[in-house]
Amino acid sequence: MNDADTDDSDRSAGRADRTPDVSNRTVLITGGAGFIGSHLAEALVEDNEVRVLDDLSGGARDHVPAGADLVEGDIRDSETVADAMDGADLVFHEAALVSVEESVEDPQRSNRINAAATVDLLERAREEDARVVLASSAAIYGHPDSVPVAEADSKDPTSPYGIDKLTLDHYARRYHDLYGLETVPLRYFNVYGPRQNPEYSAVVNVFFQQAADGGPLTIEGDGGQTRDFVHVRDVVQANLLAATTDRVGQPFNVGTGTSVTISELAETVVEVTDSDAEITHVDPRPGDIRHSEADVSAIREELGYEPTVSLEEGLRELAEAKGLSD
Ligand code: NAD
Repeated sequence: MNDADTDDSDRSAGRADRTPDVSNRTVLITGGAGFIGSHLAEALVEDNEVRVLDDLSGGARDHVPAGADLVEGDIRDSETVADAMDGADLVFHEAALVSVEESVEDPQRSNRINAAATVDLLERAREEDARVVLASSAAIYGHPDSVPVAEADSKDPTSPYGIDKLTLDHYARRYHDLYGLETVPLRYFNVYGPRQNPEYSAVVNVFFQQAADGGPLTIEGDGGQTRDFVHVRDVVQANLLAATTDRVGQPFNVGTGTSVTISELAETVVEVTDSDAEITHVDPRPGDIRHSEADVSAIREELGYEPTVSLEEGLRELAEAKGLSD
């Protein structure tokens, strides 16, 4: 149902080859107390000076690994950003208002956090001459005409969140073209793994919670909608490749290049949690995107990225981490 199986030796050899050495840098991670940002901090903290800028609105202090400095503050505050970026040569911009629903309720807030604050951050990075790797999103594509979706395909975001991520993505590319800043926007598809923000109603989280509660797992609609679920370790791999590539100023999709239906996801969660929870269906979510799957040829060919964690493996690990398997 997803990536081809590889044996452990292949996988670890692959990981070692693909993960580039990022060391002796001064690194700022905005949103580094959150899900993806804290995994990045963990990967970098040993060999770099790592600073995290986070207002802890969605993240948590104890997600920040020992050895990284936490600056508690808001990315909308230019002075805070300037202080946090002082002397940085590499920035990973992960902080965002991540809830699509909240962006619909309060588009101005989404615009200020997700778009306007990014322009301030890029401006500051120009002064520091720092490379910036930014979290863009598959949400910029809206309802794709066909899947898999390639970077040049049409973009018609359906929410303020998607519009603001498209703005971020455009600014990142234009800051490279206009000012020579080294930027790499990464368009994440559906990321999952440990420490995912529980307030962000990601379907993997919801199904695990429902399985833990004894069910039922509720599928919105007929369950035939598809998503490309990418494990956070592979998202870290993509970020480290983006930190070291000479292919700057261009966007890359980050997914697995495969997809599963939401029904298949629900069945796998039931299986890996050894649950006897039922799977039921509720009304479809209005405007739900039917199919989403990343074309990962560009990042594969140009950065050497290769997804290493199959969905089943990632979900099994998550079940173990949550104490939901034998
Ligand atoms: P997360 O909520 O776990 O992390 C975001 C972090 O940003 C949180 O720690 C939060 O406290 C912080 N933050 C929010 N507003 C802030 C502000 N104004 N100032 C400072 N810090 C602030 O979310 P995540 O899943 O780790 O997402 C990381 C990035 O990846 C986000 O930009 C998100 O839009 C993007 N993204 C995530 C996914 C996914 O599936 N998780 C998919 C596409 C894109």
